[in-house]
Amino acid sequence: MQDPHNHGGHRHHVHKHHHHPHGLEPHDAHSKVAGGDRPHTPSYLQPPPPAAGGAQLDSGSDDPSLPQSRSDQDKEYVGFATLPNQVHRKSVKKGFDFTLMVAGESGLGKSTLVNSLFLTDLYKDRKLLNAEERITQTVEITKHTVDIEEKGVKLKLTIVDTPGFGDAVNNTECWKSVADYIDQQFEQYFRDESGLNRKNIQDNRVHCCLYFISPFGHGLRPLDVEFMKALHEKVNIVPVLAKADTLTPSEVKKKKIKIREEIEQYGIKIYQFPDCDSDEDEEFKQQDLELKESIPFAVIGSNTVVEAKGKRVRGRLYPWGIVEVENSAHCDFVKLRNMLVRTHMQDLKDVTRETHYENYRAQCIQSMTRMVVKERNRKYAHQELTFSKNLPGSSAVQFLYPRLSHLLRIAP
Ligand code: GDP
Repeated sequence: MQDPHNHGGHRHHVHKHHHHPHGLEPHDAHSKVAGGDRPHTPSYLQPPPPAAGGAQLDSGSDDPSLPQSRSDQDKEYVGFATLPNQVHRKSVKKGFDFTLMVAGESGLGKSTLVNSLFLTDLYKDRKLLNAEERITQTVEITKHTVDIEEKGVKLKLTIVDTPGFGDAVNNTECWKSVADYIDQQFEQYFRDESGLNRKNIQDNRVHCCLYFISPFGHGLRPLDVEFMKALHEKVNIVPVLAKADTLTPSEVKKKKIKIREEIEQYGIKIYQFPDCDSDEDEEFKQQDLELKESIPFAVIGSNTVVEAKGKRVRGRLYPWGIVEVENSAHCDFVKLRNMLVRTHMQDLKDVTRETHYENYRAQCIQSMTRMVVKERNRKYAHQELTFSKNLPGSSAVQFLYPRLSHLLRIAP
């Protein structure tokens, strides 16, 4: 596994390749995304809108509900209208992070899509295995980190890939190493949170898992069902229909309906977009509905820039025409990117923290409480204390147990 903090190698690499083979512009801390000198800069990594109160304070607007000027503010306001602005400033200073996992059979275009999503070549060091090597391959988890910056807002993006998934002859339980990885990140966070230095916790929890579904099958395959069911309580799963350019629009439509039905039928809990408030405007409601109906997002990835109607676009060139990745008539790529980056990134993080991590934590604490009770009973009944290896987070339990028993004043 790569060191998430070691961006050095990556940066170095970027600088060596000024002329990128695919015409891509790799972004990292050195090649800043924002700035007037980069006219072809993507604009989708928008900073959060300025907080209402604070923005008004600086500009002095006519809105009567907000402070007009410093002196007015002093007279009529206590000043907590600036709170959103304070939060905004603080979080911009701290920077943001996001961890995205991609999973699904190899060859479905995962790496290509990630490169297209973040306009960077995250996979230049990748080694592709031949058929023989793949037979025995286990699912190996790899991690790539890039720092991107747009309009002064820093985002540390981590991509977790699962090469080898579905490659072996026997793929039963190939989701296991992915599930273990997610648990390990929760465990590490739980340990850090319960440790001495809670200030600088490195949060590696996985916020979203894009699950790639093959366009060539009839809906979901057993492996897809197994994977999603094994992981749906641990991570936000967003299903995508891979290589959508291999299907006609009506096939895409039918396949999406079939997949949605199967997800329902098998009781798979994918990431649910939050319901929009009833007082939202109609346009917003329409967008929200469209987003919900796009599941699974039909995606197309490409590492190349082609010329279409006089414009250079990211696309795939075929003898009969060009598919444009960012054309919403061709696929849902833009919808997916907007969802991930512009509209739902924070919600994905919130659900990870409030639901998935909380579940993990609750299970850990339950196990610990059970240990404490067992230990108490042992004192009387002279039973052996054993840490069950099968309990969720058992190693976190082993780590934290001495502290808890101390707190509960149980002599070791
Ligand atoms: P991964 O193993 O899932 O990471 O797949 P790759 O991204 O390496 O892609 C495997 C092959 O599929 C490559 O030859 C890509 O050029 C091709 N490919 C990637 N995305 C698409 C797509 O959207 N449509 C089509 N038709 N081919 C794609």
